Amino acid sequence: MRTPIFQTALLEWSGGARRDLPWRQTRDPWAVLVSEVMLQQTQVARVTPAYAAFLSRFPTPTACAQAPAGDVVRAWAGLGYNRRALSLHRAAVEVVDRFGGSVPGGLDDLVSLPGVGPYTARAVQAFAWEVDVGVVDTNAARVLARAVAGRRLAPAEAQSLADSMVPEGRGWDWNQAVLDLGATVCRRHLPRCDRCPLAVAQECTWAAGGHAQPDPANGSAGVGGGQSTFTGSDRQGRGRLIDALRVAPVALGAVAPACGWPDDPDRASRVADGLVGEGLAVLDGDVLRLP
Ligand code: SF4
Repeated sequence: MRTPIFQTALLEWSGGARRDLPWRQTRDPWAVLVSEVMLQQTQVARVTPAYAAFLSRFPTPTACAQAPAGDVVRAWAGLGYNRRALSLHRAAVEVVDRFGGSVPGGLDDLVSLPGVGPYTARAVQAFAWEVDVGVVDTNAARVLARAVAGRRLAPAEAQSLADSMVPEGRGWDWNQAVLDLGATVCRRHLPRCDRCPLAVAQECTWAAGGHAQPDPANGSAGVGGGQSTFTGSDRQGRGRLIDALRVAPVALGAVAPACGWPDDPDRASRVADGLVGEGLAVLDGDVLRLP
């Protein structure tokens, strides 16, 4: 693997293929953190409008921290996995309490915030502070496993490899390039090797080996698996109940229909208890409401 050729091929391709995404037009650490938390489990097309509306409502960590958590959950409408909204609110409170209202740039400080794991922390470092660290999500891990290693990578290996590949001083655009390649060309199913700059530069290990099976991306650094079935799941009932709570408090007697399970009040009650336990809902007498 000749890293400079690999780097040049990918950066030159990225110059013409970079997706125009709103969070790429800022280096504000709060805006980047918001975008990364939203993108953790939600597709770009759904994040884009929600991101703008969220930042308009909560332009700073302080604005977010001062709002009731329920307002943040309301602003999370359409994004799913509402627990993230609560974590983001808690992170904003900690940013205000511990970091004077400014999102920190250090890895240890970032991962100490609620809802911020190693991936999100490095993404904030690279995309807000332009630090030369490797940002390894499933897209990046797929590219690393196929193009660089040509074999399955454990998470620590993928991170170490990603860090070693970043061209000096190019952490921001390098990571965007890797993520774009994984999202649009080196896709999980049917990779478009015919339009891949790494194939043209003869820098893809997996392609050079004739795409031998199994695909090195399978099982690499958390690649694969996918989300569990949504329809009929508790997650679907939770989502419906939170959607109802966004509009108005829900009486306990109305929780089962709000979940979409009018004939299964026990299941609805378990889901409501779970929301209360996590802090996503509050029980006021016999009425459930957002915090
Ligand atoms: S040549 Fe194919 S497998 Fe290799 S990085 Fe490009 S799209 Fe992925």
